[in-house]
Amino acid sequence: FLARRLLASSTLISAARPFSSSSTTPIKATLFPGDGIGPEIAESVKQVFTAADVAIEWDEHYVATEVDPRTNSFLTWESLQSVLDNKVGLKGPMATPIGKGHRSLNLTLRKELNLYANVRPCYSLPGYKTRYDDVDLITIRENTEGEYSGLEHQVVKGVVESIKIITRKASMRVAEYAFLYAKTHGRKKVSAIHKANIMQKTDGLFLQCCDEVAEKYPEIEYEKVVIDNCCMMLVKNPALFDVLVMPNLYGDIISDLCAGLVGGLGLTPSCNIGEDGIALAEAVHGSAPDIAGKNLANPTALLLSGVMMLRHLKLNKQAEQIHSAIINTIAEGKYRTADLGGTSTTTEFTNAICDHL
Ligand code: NAD
Repeated sequence: FLARRLLASSTLISAARPFSSSSTTPIKATLFPGDGIGPEIAESVKQVFTAADVAIEWDEHYVATEVDPRTNSFLTWESLQSVLDNKVGLKGPMATPIGKGHRSLNLTLRKELNLYANVRPCYSLPGYKTRYDDVDLITIRENTEGEYSGLEHQVVKGVVESIKIITRKASMRVAEYAFLYAKTHGRKKVSAIHKANIMQKTDGLFLQCCDEVAEKYPEIEYEKVVIDNCCMMLVKNPALFDVLVMPNLYGDIISDLCAGLVGGLGLTPSCNIGEDGIALAEAVHGSAPDIAGKNLANPTALLLSGVMMLRHLKLNKQAEQIHSAIINTIAEGKYRTADLGGTSTTTEFTNAICDHL
């Protein structure tokens, strides 16, 4: 993999730098503002972090206008190297053309940086009413394979093939992460989500790995739920679930469903976890081209992703301060973006969060 080669050539990585909350030296973090609404919401994050006095120095990287031959994508070699060096970063959404065009930048990042697990917390925000007020879910998505392997071709005219890859290595790794996450975060149950009745070999192997890992965690309740039934149960009663672990495509779909339970994609954060201690946080949503450039986007999802990044860095005080300011601003209801039924612009909402710090 390209990332291994980059890692081997990096002198900074080998000198592991401990993250410290007491340090006054700014911590360098990579920032990809991304496409569409990305630059607008990235600006909000920078503004709120500055107002909260967070000691982060952003190392900003933009999507290139031409393919970098060293990465074979619109992500530059320097941007990948930046994440490897800093080991921590925040990423705005990156657009992918449908049905044609270049390799997805998100796939490139996940594969090249070996970001094997995507953690997507989804919880009811106090003060923002939806049908449920007790949603508290963690979706853990396998991030490197499944239907996202990018292996598609035409067999003969009129017949195309897409190859779903599931490996024992990746399944064990993400199952381990899910159970360890549950244990260290005081969670009670892990649900493995699958379609092994139809995808007998691929999802069958994924489940087998989850079964094996579950045996090592007798204190955590474990269940297996077929994906279609899982969708129905989530919509009827999300409190039935706690931590959910699943192959790549199911994680993509289920996490949007979960976002819908708490108020939409403007609210849900995530963090990509890599084997080399890398944490690259990003919102669950995409580049929202329909509202891009209009100062209408809700920056909450990216801000909460930033909060996940701060917790990873053990900057807990600032993480909680920013988290409370976001929750209080939304609960107060005076400033809300359109997706939450308000009339505020991104800028007005961001200013209100800063005022709540
Ligand atoms: P999307 O998430 O961009 O948008 C879906 C809907 O949610 C739209 O109506 C949009 O306006 C709304 N929305 C999303 N984020 C919002 C926010 N912060 N505030 C207010 N409203 C918000 O999904 P899409 O339209 O299917 O995808 C657009 C592009 O984004 C595509 O190119 C896709 O490949 C890409 N994408 C990237 C990522 C990523 O970078 N991780 C994730 C998903 C989609």
